[in-house]
Amino acid sequence: MQTKSKLLFIVAIMLRGRTTAPISIRSLNFRDYSIKSAVEKSKMTATIVKDGLTAHMVNGMMDKREYFLHQISVNNDEVKSLWLARSENVIKQYGEGFNDETVRDEIDKKVLRTGETVREIIENSNEITLRVTIPYKATVDGGDTNCLTCHNVKRGDTLGVISMEFDISDMRTSGMFTILRILGINLLFLVIVLFLLNYYVTPYMKLFSNLQNGIKKAYSGDFTHKFETTVGGDAKSIVDQINTLFSKMQETFGDIKYNLATFIPQGCVSSADPLHEAKTIINELSDVYKFKKTIELDASKDEVYTRIIDILKIKYHLKNFALYEVNNITHERQLFFSTDNNAQICQEKVNKNAGECRAYRTKSVTISTEFPNLCQACLSEKQNYVCIPFTINNDVSLTISITGDSEDEIEEFTSLITSIKHYFEAAKPVIESQILMEKLRDTSLRDGMTGLYNRRFLEEVIDKIMHQAHRSKDTYSVLMLDVDFFKMVNDTYGHDVGDRVIVEIGKVLKDNIRDSDLAIRYGGEEFVVMLHNASDEGTQEVAQKIHDVFGALSFDVGTGETLRKTMSIGISKFPIDGDTIWKAIKLADTALYVAKTTGRNKIVHYEKKMSENEDLR
Ligand code: GH3
Ligand code: MG
Ligand code: MG
Repeated sequence: MQTKSKLLFIVAIMLRGRTTAPISIRSLNFRDYSIKSAVEKSKMTATIVKDGLTAHMVNGMMDKREYFLHQISVNNDEVKSLWLARSENVIKQYGEGFNDETVRDEIDKKVLRTGETVREIIENSNEITLRVTIPYKATVDGGDTNCLTCHNVKRGDTLGVISMEFDISDMRTSGMFTILRILGINLLFLVIVLFLLNYYVTPYMKLFSNLQNGIKKAYSGDFTHKFETTVGGDAKSIVDQINTLFSKMQETFGDIKYNLATFIPQGCVSSADPLHEAKTIINELSDVYKFKKTIELDASKDEVYTRIIDILKIKYHLKNFALYEVNNITHERQLFFSTDNNAQICQEKVNKNAGECRAYRTKSVTISTEFPNLCQACLSEKQNYVCIPFTINNDVSLTISITGDSEDEIEEFTSLITSIKHYFEAAKPVIESQILMEKLRDTSLRDGMTGLYNRRFLEEVIDKIMHQAHRSKDTYSVLMLDVDFFKMVNDTYGHDVGDRVIVEIGKVLKDNIRDSDLAIRYGGEEFVVMLHNASDEGTQEVAQKIHDVFGALSFDVGTGETLRKTMSIGISKFPIDGDTIWKAIKLADTALYVAKTTGRNKIVHYEKKMSENEDLR
């Protein structure tokens, strides 16, 4: 049943109840009153009959009693019948009397026997009759009404009964009509009330159902519903407010979805419900963010790999998978982890030539269900697998091979690919910097004499450093240092002294730069220093310090003499002066050349005009 019908039904019931109860009570009262009034009338009539009969007896006119009784019946419409019945004693003394004076029924008998008045209502569908039978008793009132003077009875004996029947049907009929009239008026009133109620309630009901529809849509994330109402006042202002709220929600969720899409470009969920979608994406982002924050503090690349493995096990509940690391330069593949005692799904040759792995070669996810025997390097055609490749940088790629027992399981894993890739994306820069750190720790990339990085190091890592700097908008101040007239040291004091000078430069550089800066022995007595995110003032300060500290050093040349040397420094800035670090090094060299050609023992910052005026070189 609709709400409106329910409401009207309840109101109708209430109104009916409200009116029917008093009508019922009134009708009962009316009936009682009618009966009471008929009883009173019967008492009066009985008294008249009794007194009349007594008068007839006293006056010796008992033979006229039939006429008297007839007159009473005739003059009183409601008296249906009136008769007398004599007691045994009276019959014995005076005989049977007229025909009508015999006992007619059990009531007559009872009243004759008990001497008690009997009143009864006899009701059937056609009429209501009040039956009254009263005893006529022998009295001794003195004067003319001493019954014992004529009757051979004791005082108080019942001489006979007077029975009357009154028709009180009219009272019932008129009562019924009154009740029906009340009911009719009530019904009319009810119809009017229901009509008015329907008229005023219908717009509200329409509004409710409109609200219900809109809210239902909102549950599924659709806030485009426009609420309408013909009702004015408060209802109208509520509708306006809800409309404003809904359009704000729609706009806000649109923005959230758009902004989230920038975090997770491929979208980890596709749902018609933006609320659900936003919640899932935020949860995913939060998980990935926590993961990233954790791995940023991991000590090595292997620790990060282990973290990925944990995610695959714990978050995605993967039971059978393997993680491979591929060297992009040699195309050699190495199994890092396998859930199944290092068992592999690929043929051994794939490890020597990762190009055999379809996922690695095509740089796209390979799913066994897509085509029969899709990856030819797979050990068995019947294997179910999903292989996800991921390139970390020019040097390293990762591949995850997930295996399953059935095609359904593979379908399930396929739905996880996007989400798994988010973790790889988050891990990528961390793994990249871990690879870099490993390189930095590599001794083959260091100069044996000074302990500083060598030129090979610069060649190997410079691109990675640069890309990382581009991503994180870092700057490097590039200092190119060269000892002035160094050849003279070798020539005058020998190579050993020259070497000691070079070793001391190494120490000076190490002592005066931070951990995030790099010092490289670039050539014989030429050094490159890269200051990470240093301001112009900071750069000048460091350069000046290196210059001054080195200039203050005195070397014992063994002959009792001491040697002091100076250096020249050229400075440029990446990416302001040169957009690659190699260019910046070259421009620092240009500035160094200017320092050398304009007197040496000085610090010169690169300026554009230095490149324009090639004559200076
Ligand atoms: P300038 O002021 O123009 O730099 O003059 P310079 O004499 O320093 O010239 P340059 O920088 O070209 O000299 C480099 C010399 O450094 C040449 C080489 O004999 C010397 N050298 C290079 N490596 C070593 C080394 O490992 N040990 C020693 N003792 N000398 C080296
Ligand atoms: Mg020199
Ligand atoms: Mg030199």
